[in-house]
Amino acid sequence: SCQILKKSETIDLRSKYVGPSCTLFFKADPLKIDEASGQYMYDETGQAYLDCINNVCHVGHCHPAVVEAGCKQMHKLNTNSRFLHDNLVLLAQRLVETMPPSLCMVYFVNSGSEANDLALRLAKHHTKGSEIITLERAYHGHVLSLIDLSTYKLNHITDGMHTKPDFVHIAECPDSYRGKYRDTDHSKDQLADLFVSSVDGIIDEIHAADKHLSCFIAESMQSCGGQIIYPDGYLSKVFRSVRAAGGVCIADEVQVGFGRVGTHMWSFDAQGCLPDVVTIGKPMGNGHPLAAVVTTREIAASFAACGIEYFNTYGGNPVSCAIGLAVLDVIKNDKLMENALKVGDVLNTKLNELKSKHQLVGDVRGVGMFWGLDLVKDRATREPATEEAAYVVKRAKEEHTLLSRDGPHDNVIKFKAPMCFSVENAETLAKQLDLIFTEIAEGKMAQQATHKVSNGTSQASSEPVAKKLKTNGNTLHTGEGLHMNGQKT
Ligand code: PMP
Repeated sequence: SCQILKKSETIDLRSKYVGPSCTLFFKADPLKIDEASGQYMYDETGQAYLDCINNVCHVGHCHPAVVEAGCKQMHKLNTNSRFLHDNLVLLAQRLVETMPPSLCMVYFVNSGSEANDLALRLAKHHTKGSEIITLERAYHGHVLSLIDLSTYKLNHITDGMHTKPDFVHIAECPDSYRGKYRDTDHSKDQLADLFVSSVDGIIDEIHAADKHLSCFIAESMQSCGGQIIYPDGYLSKVFRSVRAAGGVCIADEVQVGFGRVGTHMWSFDAQGCLPDVVTIGKPMGNGHPLAAVVTTREIAASFAACGIEYFNTYGGNPVSCAIGLAVLDVIKNDKLMENALKVGDVLNTKLNELKSKHQLVGDVRGVGMFWGLDLVKDRATREPATEEAAYVVKRAKEEHTLLSRDGPHDNVIKFKAPMCFSVENAETLAKQLDLIFTEIAEGKMAQQATHKVSNGTSQASSEPVAKKLKTNGNTLHTGEGLHMNGQKT
């Protein structure tokens, strides 16, 4: 390793120079990652971590084909997108080939936030409407226009300076395990209709106020809100209502796209529905900033007619597009969607075995390389097991596995690994979770918390550090005390 700074120096410089609201994973004991490859990340000592949460480095960290494509293009040319370049048009063509025929016009941008902000602009100019419908718990990006409609962040602003604008309307999160309508009280069909009625009610209110709908925006599966898989038929029914009201349907595939579901390239497709605008990001550049908006010819024409040109300095630059093309090649050549299906099947079996064995696991939901475990203190009341989820994430890290937790109660364990995650990795993860859940059932979590309080200090792991060794999940050791820190992306 060619470290410039000691970890403690990195931490010091970060607190000295980097804005304090910038997020770190494992805040209480952050990781310094020096290298990564495939589904493994290596810290500054060479310790390997199994990465179960990096949906950005989609085809595997530092995939050689992607790295080479970027390097090669950097040697040759990088410039803004006002010149003709083959990479831009070829990537646009390749993306359109993965979409339903109506989605045929592409805009390149640099981040998911930019993509969603542009999607809102497209909807506004196309519909001339002002009102936006978003889902409870949604997160769509960090810019002003998106914090407006991301209750995931908006609800936590305490200084009163950013509140929900009146043109933003929040529909119920279609979470049939812990949402407003639940699988204990309603059948699957009823659930979809009940959650759709929340959107329909909003549309009625918009019309009653003599206003016009601009768009409905949602992830095709809600990741930030706690790995939510919508009831069957929900999205297509919502899309129908939104279109009938003259609105545009925006599918945010920033987290859930690019084959993560295994069966389809796009999650909306897996649900048999057709959006008017699709936003894509994170996996698209495998870590390099690259994102896009894909829409219909009609919406693109309305935007062109709005009177101004669209220019984005870096969006669609030759290097980013070379990388984007390589990512698409790797998904195909490495058969990563097939892998997502195969590993998804194993996870389905293993995680449901954990649910049968451990009362802590209230709900297991997911598909392909996208899974959530909703942890509960009590299966009947579904009281969220927030402290337990924090313990699981902390203990998994000690086992050299990276997991995170999310949802309004931070009690949902999230899995969204790079697409090269193997069956063997899935088995390791399940074994580790089994051990950790057993510890919780045996009261070890409470013991550690008490231990910390009485000691006043954290106990450091005495485990010798494995150098560049794949994590095997066989070792159990006592770690530091319980830290409650949000691990959100
Ligand atoms: N949409 C979703 C669903 C996201 O999860 C994120 C990022 N977490 C964004 C949009 C914003 O993307 P970016 O951080 O690249 O701006």
